[in-house]
Amino acid sequence: MKSQMLHGKRALVTGSVQGIGLAVALELARAGAEVVLHGLADESTHKAARSALAEISEHAARSLPHDLSDKAQVERMMSEAMADGPLSILVNNAGIQYTAPLGEMPRDKWDAILAINLSAAFDTMRLALPAMIAAGYGRIVNIASVHGLVASVNKAPYVAAKFGLIGLTRVAALEAAQAGSRSSGGVTANCICPGWTETAIIEPQVLARAAQFGGDREAGIRDLLREKQPTGRTSAPMEIGRTVVWLCDVAAHNITGTAIPIDGGWTAQ
Ligand code: NAD
Repeated sequence: MKSQMLHGKRALVTGSVQGIGLAVALELARAGAEVVLHGLADESTHKAARSALAEISEHAARSLPHDLSDKAQVERMMSEAMADGPLSILVNNAGIQYTAPLGEMPRDKWDAILAINLSAAFDTMRLALPAMIAAGYGRIVNIASVHGLVASVNKAPYVAAKFGLIGLTRVAALEAAQAGSRSSGGVTANCICPGWTETAIIEPQVLARAAQFGGDREAGIRDLLREKQPTGRTSAPMEIGRTVVWLCDVAAHNITGTAIPIDGGWTAQ
């Protein structure tokens, strides 16, 4: 359903040419925001994402291609995203995963996961926050994970990065807490912590588990859910997008510094 709740707001969603990021971008656009897409992907993936956005948004659909493992490229992405005006909404969603026991984890995977899942968010936030504070309205929504709240085996760099992202977000929430007012909406910073959500990032883990059931993908997913996610249901990316829109409402001015699980009860256990 289309609304105008976020009319006049400019948003950047990192990693938004597919998966959760694309769903977040489309939900923000449905709520009236002007959204800049971004992702590290081939041109056909960028094009498909722009077409999906153009169907919803009255604004030109742009997608930025910068590699967020490189600080200079993060800075270039931010100056391009802010070339037409400051951002009112920043969603740090881009992320990668690699699973291996700590003793076998390649050092370059640690560097890449920390750079993309954590350091890039530090850089986008430090560049976007001052204008949000000056405007009296701003929303930082960082897509962390249940793995920012609890650990699992074989995910040392990912868990370290996501715990770090929640801490970083809480500092931003405190530093921006006094900006704006109830009517302007204030400046908030929050994390969303998804559990199993159906996107490409979980595919290697799904396939590895399916292999234990003779290659039956559905049986593999059921088994992953049985282990951790009590509802037994995965989340759809759009459900994460709806939560981001809810956090962007002016009425959410006092929801800040939180880490909101969307995990079917995983972290309630
Ligand atoms: P995805 O693999 O479909 O999307 C990842 C996005 O990150 C892509 O758009 C990709 O272009 C971008 N990206 C990857 N490396 C990049 C780089 N070097 N520079 C710039 N962009 C890069 O996966 P997803 O599930 O949509 O993941 C989105 C976020 O959600 C991630 O931060 C992930 O950790 C988090 N998350 C996902 C799940 C899940 O079950 N799917 C659960 C918890 C958290």
